[in-house]
Amino acid sequence: MIIAGIQTFPLRIPFKPGHAAAASVWGPKGLAAVDSLLVKVTTDQGLEGWGEAFGFTATPVTQRAIDELIAPLCVGRDATRITPLMHDVREKLHVFGPGPVAMALSAVDIALWDIAGKAVGAPVHQLLGGGADDLACYASLDAYADSSLVRAAVRRALEGGFQAIKLHERQLPEVRAARDEAGPEVELILDVNCAWTVNQARAIAAELREFRLKWLEEPVWPPENYDGLAQVRATGGIPIAAGENVPAPMDFDRLMAARAVDFAQPSPAKMGGVTEIVKVFPAAALRNVTVMPHTFYDGPGLLAGIHVSAALGTAETMIEWRFFDLKAQIYQGAPTLKDGRVQVPQGPGLGIDPDPDVIQAYLIA
Ligand SMILES: [Mg+2]
Repeated sequence: MIIAGIQTFPLRIPFKPGHAAAASVWGPKGLAAVDSLLVKVTTDQGLEGWGEAFGFTATPVTQRAIDELIAPLCVGRDATRITPLMHDVREKLHVFGPGPVAMALSAVDIALWDIAGKAVGAPVHQLLGGGADDLACYASLDAYADSSLVRAAVRRALEGGFQAIKLHERQLPEVRAARDEAGPEVELILDVNCAWTVNQARAIAAELREFRLKWLEEPVWPPENYDGLAQVRATGGIPIAAGENVPAPMDFDRLMAARAVDFAQPSPAKMGGVTEIVKVFPAAALRNVTVMPHTFYDGPGLLAGIHVSAALGTAETMIEWRFFDLKAQIYQGAPTLKDGRVQVPQGPGLGIDPDPDVIQAYLIA
């Protein structure tokens, strides 16, 4: 089965009225829409697979990387030999390092796994050995920088059945408001996207301790400062998570060897798709680290994280569920979420294809 074509679909889905995001690492203050980048791989036998790259403001660069660098290396190649193909493409493009080129490669890899499942009529998690029927999720909230908006979002997440909630806030009053609103039992997570120096992080961790966070995510700048992260972990009294900016399995091994994390967060649509993320699970198991995949996606990136976690995760593994108030969803209501748990799709490949009407309505011309 030969790869016949690779098409990119940059989408821009606006927030519902009144739900613009506060300033964050994903875009400017007042971010009014979320950009996603989908990719469709077609084969000479008519099968189609869908993938996704990390989106937001990187989308135009990643799209060019797929269209101009990766597609020409993949079209005409055997779609059923994913690992050798990805190795070949990765080797040819390795001088460009992590970032948009790696995200682009991730999207194509995920689409090829979708095709691999469809070709044999099995969901991706079954190709990986099979596993859980459903998985716990945590609601990953937007950045608000406003205590009353944080409270309202926490309330909505609890009403939606979530038992764990992640904040993207950087100030104590917002964290306090969230804990107050959520009550003592709900698992609260704080992600600050590499906001602080090591010393700042150590000092702030001491102040955060009273909120009994499930974990503090990426407290230290730069993200590759694994020793600094380890210092915060050793002295802060709060479990540490990181990994969405860790580019490769070998770097995860360094991260974990440095005793920098309690939770490793490989990102399927950044680090190389299904082919690369599956390597992190056994490496983490050897070091007693729990994998909590970074799935800050609404499309195939999310489904890829669900399938690998169903097959390779532990009972502790949770799926990151982006809790954004967008006007439309790439899968329009699927996969199903009940009591804060997501049903693992059982259809062939990733199990669900993106809604063509949503793609048509929100495609960036
Ligand atoms: Mg994060």
